Amino acid sequence: MSYHELAVERIKNIDANQYIGVSNKRYSEVRSRGEYEVDARLIAEYYRRVGVYLQFISKEVTSIYAGMDMLIGYKMVDNEWDELLVKCPNFVEIDFMLMKLISIHYLRWCTLLDNNNNIALQFPDIYEPMIILFERGGGRISTHHHELVGGFGAFSRSIDAKRGDMKPIDISDNELKTIIEELELAEAYLVEHKKGNLTEKYCIRCGNRLIIHSNNKFGQQWYKIKCETKDCFDINFS
Ligand SMILES: [Zn+2]
Repeated sequence: MSYHELAVERIKNIDANQYIGVSNKRYSEVRSRGEYEVDARLIAEYYRRVGVYLQFISKEVTSIYAGMDMLIGYKMVDNEWDELLVKCPNFVEIDFMLMKLISIHYLRWCTLLDNNNNIALQFPDIYEPMIILFERGGGRISTHHHELVGGFGAFSRSIDAKRGDMKPIDISDNELKTIIEELELAEAYLVEHKKGNLTEKYCIRCGNRLIIHSNNKFGQQWYKIKCETKDCFDINFS
């Protein structure tokens, strides 16, 4: 199978049911805290990969809307949106513009790979984090003013080449699974803590103790759960 055929298979198999009606739901109804943490990781890794690519083609900045092929002179054709819906009928029911747009860009990038485009061949997996995000049901993401907004918080809508200086982020299945599990553990720990249960819990990554710090700022109660190991688990909860 060609890159493009494989890509169409993946996009076609995205489950529309994960997306229908999500724009009318609250963030907390769509995904768990752990899943949002994973979404944020995947977006950060996409931005990093785009940053590396921008440095390679000597551009300073691009937008979340732009296709990587467009940055090297290719143009979208008029009927591309209609064609996507023919190839991937599951998208007919989905009202998530950014996912459709990035999927179109991804398919176009795969066509360049099939045509042995020299630049594309150096960045074959550039879209991978976003496609994984869509496959996992990365629900309610929208663009608002200058930001890409979701249950994870916000990212800038523009992607800076400096992002390419960051360390690669592990987006393997195993790592994503661990992130969700440690968030679930921390949430359950906090529920017990609020009930007055003092049993300690331990980090699933390193086995060290997890410490709950409770804070009060302007009458708002919030908590920080932190692993005793430096630079390990450290997340705020309300
Ligand atoms: Zn730890």
